[in-house]
Amino acid sequence: DTQQTAEYIARDERWGAHNYHPLPVVISEAEGAWVTDVDGRRYLDFLSGYSALNFGHRNRRLVDAAHQQLDRLTLTSRAFHNDQFGLFCEELAALTGTEMVLTMNTGAEAVESAIKVARKWAYEVKGVETDRAEIIVATNNFHGRTTTIVSFSDDPAAHDNYGPFTPGFVTVPYGDAEAVRAAIGPNTAAVLMEPIQGEAGVIVPPAGFWSDVRRACDENNVLLIADEIQSGLARTGTLFALDHEGVRADLYTLGKALGGGIVPISAVVGRSDVLGVLKPGQHGSTFGGYPVACAVGRAVVDLLSTGEFQQRAKELGEHLHAGLRALEGKGISAVRGRGLWAGVDIDPRAKTGREVSMLLRDRGVLCKETHERTLRMAPPLVIEREEIDQALAALAEALGE
Ligand code: PLP
Repeated sequence: DTQQTAEYIARDERWGAHNYHPLPVVISEAEGAWVTDVDGRRYLDFLSGYSALNFGHRNRRLVDAAHQQLDRLTLTSRAFHNDQFGLFCEELAALTGTEMVLTMNTGAEAVESAIKVARKWAYEVKGVETDRAEIIVATNNFHGRTTTIVSFSDDPAAHDNYGPFTPGFVTVPYGDAEAVRAAIGPNTAAVLMEPIQGEAGVIVPPAGFWSDVRRACDENNVLLIADEIQSGLARTGTLFALDHEGVRADLYTLGKALGGGIVPISAVVGRSDVLGVLKPGQHGSTFGGYPVACAVGRAVVDLLSTGEFQQRAKELGEHLHAGLRALEGKGISAVRGRGLWAGVDIDPRAKTGREVSMLLRDRGVLCKETHERTLRMAPPLVIEREEIDQALAALAEALGE
């Protein structure tokens, strides 16, 4: 690495808290599927800011929407109305086929909000005894980093030494519908799960899992909350990953790509009789649904409304997965995922995920390991077929090193 790169990294290390372990590359510019580092080297982005950059870096229409809004109005807080918030909610509800929208800023806040709403609904509508509500979650889940959310994480790195923890969560094996059904009791408010688990390594549950869970929820007056923060908004080839199963959730949490990689905005969308339990003063956020975020969010909704990005993710995803499957047995032990999203297990006899990430970096492709042995691939949906081939060739070379 050059002197310049080393200096930037040393500054990060000295002054920034060490809560991440970044690849040693210092990015200063980006466009579409490509980023450029401080030394002028270009890389294909195969992570997309953990799927926040689904529409590519500096997508023209999203940047224009942000600029136009910055020149008019940035923040009102929700103490007053503004001319963007309602339009964003209306358009997002129309896109997602839902009745009501609650805006927040980060993914974790959307999940926290869904948990609060589900509990409140359980007490006020379902009739669960005060402070007894339970929410069923999955093993290997990832829903964010707040104290309540890490309370039900079984990843020691995310969880340990952050107690005392929030009670009221019941964990069942991911993908086991019978276990979900067995865990439901009179106090169950909701089932909260990722339709495809992202951080766990892009884990797709067995076919039929979601329709079985939906049925168990319906039979017991339990809410189904789908955390689509990473899986949603076209990544898997459909608007929601749940759409592949023909299942609807009562609440969806959205984030990441909802702000186009430009602004942090998240939302809970779903049934108005559930979100309707929130009355003035009972929940909120200073920036949640601020005009700049709503303006960019509206442009994101507009991009998604044509289905073009969903179609790209589907077709290019088939191409990516075919290319990855061809490497099975050649340094790769398993490939999972859907659309332009793949969890690639590196053969432990070959290399670690980190080693492959470094070799890919040297070949102009940026992606990142999740856990020891898995590479997560999620290029922007604007990527071209030839660029996927370029990344696949780099991967084959890296594995053969
Ligand atoms: N939920 C899921 C499924 C996620 O993948 C993530 C982030 O990776 C989150 C929630 C948390 O989002 P944020 O980092 O914006 O708080």
